[in-house]
Formats: sequence, C-alpha cells, structure tokens
Amino acid sequence: MPIEPQTPLIDRFGRVHTSLRISVTDRCNIRCFYCMPLENVRFKPRQELLTFEEMTRVVRVAAGLGINKLRLTGGEPLVRSNLSQLIRMLREVPGIQEIALTTNGILLPDQAADLKSSGLDRLNVSLDAISEEMFERITRRQGVQKVFDGIAAAKAAGFGNVRLNAVAIQNLTECEIVPLANFARENDLHLRFIEFMPLDADRAWDKSKVLSGQQLREIISREVAPLRSVNRHDKSQPATDYEYADGKQRVGFINSVTEPFCGACNRLRITAEGQLRNCLFGMEEWDARQVLRNGGTDTELSERFQSCVQAKKPSHGMDSPDFVPPERAMYQIGG
Ligand code: SAM
Ligand code: SF4
Repeated sequence: MPIEPQTPLIDRFGRVHTSLRISVTDRCNIRCFYCMPLENVRFKPRQELLTFEEMTRVVRVAAGLGINKLRLTGGEPLVRSNLSQLIRMLREVPGIQEIALTTNGILLPDQAADLKSSGLDRLNVSLDAISEEMFERITRRQGVQKVFDGIAAAKAAGFGNVRLNAVAIQNLTECEIVPLANFARENDLHLRFIEFMPLDADRAWDKSKVLSGQQLREIISREVAPLRSVNRHDKSQPATDYEYADGKQRVGFINSVTEPFCGACNRLRITAEGQLRNCLFGMEEWDARQVLRNGGTDTELSERFQSCVQAKKPSHGMDSPDFVPPERAMYQIGG
C-alpha cells in the first residue's frame, strides 16, 4: 500500500527521490578490474558496517520521505551473511513497494531460493563475458560456470524477470558482445550494457576505454538482429531500451558517460558504513551512522536525508574539464 510521504525528497532541480541503493558490504568474492584493486584491498572492519536493524531504521525513515524502491548492492551483497533476513526485515517497512538486488551471481546457486522466499522482487546479475578466459581476465577469478548456474537457479526459484548487466570495455571485450547478446536471447534475459565509468580503484579509466552504447547498438543490430527503439515509460530508468525486430527480448544501454541521464535521476545511496550519497560521483557524504549510533532521533535522520538531497548537483559533471573522480571506488560506494 503506497503511503503519502510527509516531506518528499525533492532537490533544487525538482527531482523527486524515490529510490535508495543500499550497499550491504564492501567485500567481494571476485576482483573486477574496473571496480576493485587486485591486491591489498582494505575492507571496512565489520563493526563499522551498518547492522540489519540500523539499515531497517534508515529505510523506515526514508520511506516516510517517499522512498519506495530499494536496491541492495555492494561489494557483493551475497557475501553478507543472512542477507535474506535483511530482506524480510525491509519487506515489513510500510511504503516499500519493490526490493531488488544486484549480484555477480556466483553465490546464487546456494541462495536464490531463500532470496525468493524472503520477498526479493527483482534480480540483476552482472556478467560481462561468456568465455571463461575473458571472465577471468576481467574478474581475476575463475567462475563463469557458477554465474550460469546462478542464473539458472534464480529462474528455477521463480525470478521471472532476471536482468543481465554487462560492462563493455573498448579494445578488450568486443569479442564478447555478440555471444552475450545471443546468450541473453536464448535464455530470455533482458541484457543491459553499462558504460565503463571512472570508478575503478586502480584509476586506470580513460575515455578511450569506454565502448559506447551507440557502438554497442551498431554491433548488435548488425551482427545479432535489427533493433527498434521502445518508448521509455519510466523516465528515471537509466537504460535506453531497444527490442529485437524479431520480438525475441530487449537490449538496453546505460550510457552514463556518453549520454548522461542525470536530469531524471531519482536515486540516493547509502554506503555499507552508513554514509548517505546523492550521486555516484559526489564528493560529499552525510553520516547516517553517527545519528544511529549516538542516540539520534528519526527527525535527525530525516534531516540528513534532506541535506543530502538539497546539495545534489544538476549532473555528475564528468564532461567538465575540472572533473575529478570520487575517492571511493565503485565497490566502496555501491553500484
Ligand atoms: N557485486 C555486484 C555486481 O557486480 O553485480 C554488485 C555491486 S557492483 C559495484 C554493481 C554494478 O556496478 C555491476 O553491474 C558492475 O558491473 C558495475 N560496475 C562496477 N564498476 C563499474 C565501473 N567502473 N563502471 C561501470 N559499471 C561498473
Ligand atoms: Fe565485485 Fe561487483 Fe565490483 Fe565486480 S563489480 S568487483 S563483482 S563489487
């Protein structure tokens, strides 16, 4: 049952925020080069991470401000123990209409059924390559078969709308584009390509490594099947979707670098250790954990949310000559 927010989270540009991405951990079981460093990763000590009770309290306050959609992410959310318990707790929060999760899929064979029964609505699985060799080059770990098994387990558990997310890298993953698209079509999965963003811990991002949505669209329409655009019903959805002319599935492009969609952004984020952020590329954070752990009131938490929203900039500013990426890499923010 939707509830009317008391004070909606509207920023200076009129954007209404209804979506919260919650990072449940900064840990991960693989090491994608566009996200994490290969070695000497310094994870936050466990006591610094929000507990499930703290996250649920944050969500209850956020729901009162109009947040109705949650996405659990990380790091790899499935390495946080008992995640299904958190989902059950979040499900009880009035006003939350949808809970989704983004995962690398490796632990799904063990967890998919439990996630489904806990009330998780949607699953996105990240997979950039079909061949083990490329999977290993990207993730610096073995395991593509585990991801395939994870996708199968998710479907068997009753997740009917699994989406695949793929980051494509220029001069590296071109050979994976067509196999990925075919894999998605054969398995009835909605594939979405995400442009490589400057959020890698190694700071090796360069615009020349971005395989743009337009380039990908050309490859796919030439080598897989012609594409036709579809109307974007939900303007806050970051992906521009196309359907294959033969009607067999859709493919989407999240062109964060070449065609930013900040004007319709409705998202806020909270890091695993309880820092509110208004943008992936933001430089500022609002400390929700400090309120939670120092006996602060729900009103104080609401104020942190409002301050975070009021400070939101019109766009991520990646095109500006002064652009500097944030100190945190993707796994430390929550993608
Ligand atoms: N570990 C989970 C996963 O990989 O799905 C969830 C967290 S991960 C940070 C969320 C998403 O961010 C993944 O789809 C991943 O491919 C994407 N991602 C990570 N680093 C990125 C980058 N530098 N540019 C674009 N997307 C990135
Ligand atoms: Fe882990 Fe996801 Fe980052 Fe890959 S993208 S290293 S799976 S957190």
